Amino acid sequence: MDPYQAERERMVAYQIASKGVKDEKVLAAMRKVPRHRFVSEDAQAYAYVDSPVRIGKGQTISQPYIVALMTELLGVQPEHRVLDVGTGSGYQAAILGELAAEVHSIERHPELAETARATLEALGYKNIQVHVGDGTEGYAPAAPYNRIIVAAAAPSVPQALLDQLSEGGRLVIPVGSRYSQQLEVWVRRGDQYQQSSNIPVVFVPLIGKQGWQG
Ligand code: SAM
Repeated sequence: MDPYQAERERMVAYQIASKGVKDEKVLAAMRKVPRHRFVSEDAQAYAYVDSPVRIGKGQTISQPYIVALMTELLGVQPEHRVLDVGTGSGYQAAILGELAAEVHSIERHPELAETARATLEALGYKNIQVHVGDGTEGYAPAAPYNRIIVAAAAPSVPQALLDQLSEGGRLVIPVGSRYSQQLEVWVRRGDQYQQSSNIPVVFVPLIGKQGWQG
């Protein structure tokens, strides 16, 4: 048995379910995916604490609660194709891989993408592809997506991501200044988009053509 299983059970009970995340499929995925495998060995002791963890290149793996909350807001179904912008460690992609048919994850730092790819492969995920590139432009070759999730803060919603949503598709993204944002949910209805949800969050910047300029 995985020695970290008990830590994951505690993480879900005390950091996630207790704060209001109810979706049983999301909770099951958070109990299953070995978060410690997505951080360096010297950071493994911190993998299940209630905060972000450094993963190199000045980036972080998001706090467990935020991963669970965003995944719940996304409402992933088993037949869905999902785009994950900001692969980082690959942890969020693995959670999505548990819930969706197909996951495309895009990261601007080639080194982070390579490490994430290796981790996901070692864990046996066959439905996740990691790409290197500017995720503010989405990932056109596999579009449209039923769901898009962005794990970095945008000054405004990139038009490319709205364009790459399928009918009824949903986008979850932090939008605001470099230092504080609101978590927004966008749903596509034909050429119209409905926006809802405003939960305060703090993310690293989304850097790219339709994001922050460096
Ligand atoms: N989801 C990740 C995980 O589970 O480890 C954590 C993501 S971290 C908070 C944000 C990531 O977004 C960083 O790895 C950063 O390099 C990446 N990023 C920032 N701007 C990007 C862009 N335009 N395209 C792709 N990735 C980007």
